[in-house]
Amino acid sequence: MADRDGVIWYDGKLVPWREATTHVLTHTLHYGMGVFEGVRAYETSRGSAIFRLQDHTNRLFNSAKILGIALPCSKEELNEAQRAVVRENGLKSGYLRPMAFYGSAKLGVAPPVNDVHVIVAAWPWGAYLGAEGMEKGIRVKTSSFSRHHINVTMCKAKANGNYMNSILAHQEAAADGYDEALLLDVDGYVAEGSGENIFVVRGGKLYTPDLTSCLDGITRNTVFQIAQEMGVEVIEKRITRDEIYIADEAFFTGTAAEVTPIRELDNRPVGIGSRGPITAEIQKRYFDIVEGRDERRAEWLTLV
Ligand code: PMP
Repeated sequence: MADRDGVIWYDGKLVPWREATTHVLTHTLHYGMGVFEGVRAYETSRGSAIFRLQDHTNRLFNSAKILGIALPCSKEELNEAQRAVVRENGLKSGYLRPMAFYGSAKLGVAPPVNDVHVIVAAWPWGAYLGAEGMEKGIRVKTSSFSRHHINVTMCKAKANGNYMNSILAHQEAAADGYDEALLLDVDGYVAEGSGENIFVVRGGKLYTPDLTSCLDGITRNTVFQIAQEMGVEVIEKRITRDEIYIADEAFFTGTAAEVTPIRELDNRPVGIGSRGPITAEIQKRYFDIVEGRDERRAEWLTLV
């Protein structure tokens, strides 16, 4: 990813893509203490627009607060940086990656608190779990790795180090021929995917785990609002994996994954074994919103 044309916002300046480098003794590279976001921009009839920009920026600042990282820029500056990287890279649509990390001023577990850097990159990125997966659904396996415990890491922070757990889970699922992993919490209840929240449809209602050990997903919140418009009740509760085996439908949500149907869990077809009707309707409404066709949600789109 390092060798391409374009610009990356780095501590207040747009620098050529290939020159956006940092030293090998960067603290975050060694210990994983950093925070990041995943944001998407979509092509709309009025131009490229970033979806729920302020909500992503707010979550990045909350993640930093949770980890005690003092960000050296304001929310306004970060919003502008995100608009700039989409614009200056000439992207119609794409994925944005803001990240804050400690620099190389010192190593050791006590971080260099006055050496915090912020970058924002943006590049084209299609369907995270594949175009076919969006239509037909993906195959998922329950992971042998548990999701973080609330007192081991901070589940409300989108923190770099948290993703080692996601990578282990995804790697295991992929090696066994599955598209994605489903992680359970330490008590054995469904938590989330390696980079997605999960929803289950049963008897016309939506169920999703409460936020104890999963990320407070912005797509999850968007789906809550879509469901409300559809008159579909959403219930947050503890969910067991066998509830998904006997569900009518299930799907993952995430900025990267958008709304991805789950067609199989642990080799059992979920519902009809392909994208179900409620998932299809939510997916359609989601794309109407992010691509600017739903005027009621225009305030969620920031033109670049
Ligand atoms: N859970 C995890 C672990 C994630 O990495 C993500 C992606 N940010 C999500 C859930 C979904 O969050 P969002 O909808 O805000 O992208």
